[in-house]
Amino acid sequence: MDEKRVLITGAAGFLGSHLCDRFVKEGFHVIAMDNLITGDLRNIEHLFKLENFEFYHHDVSKFVHVSGELHYILHFASPASPIDYLKIPIQTLKVGSLGTHNLLGLAKDKNARIIIASTSEVYGDPTVHPQPEEYYGNVNTVGPRGVYDEAKRFQEAITMAYHTFHGLETRIVRIFNTYGPRMRLNDGRVLPAFIGQALRGEDLTIFGDGSQTRSFCYVDDLIEGIYRLLMSDYALPMNIGNPNEISIRDFAEEIVKLTGTTQKIVYKDLPKDDPKQRQPDITKAKQLLGWEPKVSRADGLKITYEYFKSLPHEVLYQRDHKNFDDYMR
Ligand code: UDP
Repeated sequence: MDEKRVLITGAAGFLGSHLCDRFVKEGFHVIAMDNLITGDLRNIEHLFKLENFEFYHHDVSKFVHVSGELHYILHFASPASPIDYLKIPIQTLKVGSLGTHNLLGLAKDKNARIIIASTSEVYGDPTVHPQPEEYYGNVNTVGPRGVYDEAKRFQEAITMAYHTFHGLETRIVRIFNTYGPRMRLNDGRVLPAFIGQALRGEDLTIFGDGSQTRSFCYVDDLIEGIYRLLMSDYALPMNIGNPNEISIRDFAEEIVKLTGTTQKIVYKDLPKDDPKQRQPDITKAKQLLGWEPKVSRADGLKITYEYFKSLPHEVLYQRDHKNFDDYMR
């Protein structure tokens, strides 16, 4: 039997579900795992009928057992929006630390190659711009984002330790802001927030004066970058993201044009430690993987808007969280 077997954690989430699709398409046997705290089975229910797909409802912060062979592990389980990790800080810390430890142990046991999902948040509120992989970051350990940022920094450290000490085949992808279908409409992130507000006929909320920047990557581009990194022989962290940077104010204007909303843009307090600027330096990904993003923001936003419009009405009004302000104070 030469079918390769891959374990994907966080499989019901935004990125995890797209990875499941990709690996199924590549002919892998996909073992999907999720504890469904922030994931949604609707993202992968179309895969349940396939023979080369199986799903386990499990929290990887607890011991992970997979029977049989395993060739690859993709660890993508984690809350990943600022509201989520403010609401469930301990789980966020545990899945990045204990969960990663469990999966590294599993990878060692199975002699599997493992890629872990790190983040541009390891750079914190960066003082170097754009951010190359060599930049060590500027993180407030005890601020609201500390639980996520430090979990991810620990995750990178333990992954490198398994690589150097045990000779494990490891990959570390630092993911920058990514968007596309299957993002949760109410996770508080700026893109679903703006589109959701436009669809509900509410004002668009900019935090701070909107001069802070982000660089948004369309999900298909990101998945291609991750796939190439996994199949490469590069063990140090690698940025994958779209360097096309935009201020949040200009981004709000783009959403106004895209959706045709006639609502106002209103300004709210900037959350603590909100990074002022973010843009990946993707020189390494270009050189070593021959990868760069292909989907323009205009095209990606159109597809994403169509997806959000197609969601059932109740999803649009479903509140995952009481109120953003409750969690930021
Ligand atoms: N933001 C905003 N309005 C919102 C939600 C977010 O202006 O309704 C801002 C947020 O303060 C940040 C940027 O948009 O500066 C991106 O936020 P997001 O939560 O999407 O991701 P981050 O990159 O901060 O993790």
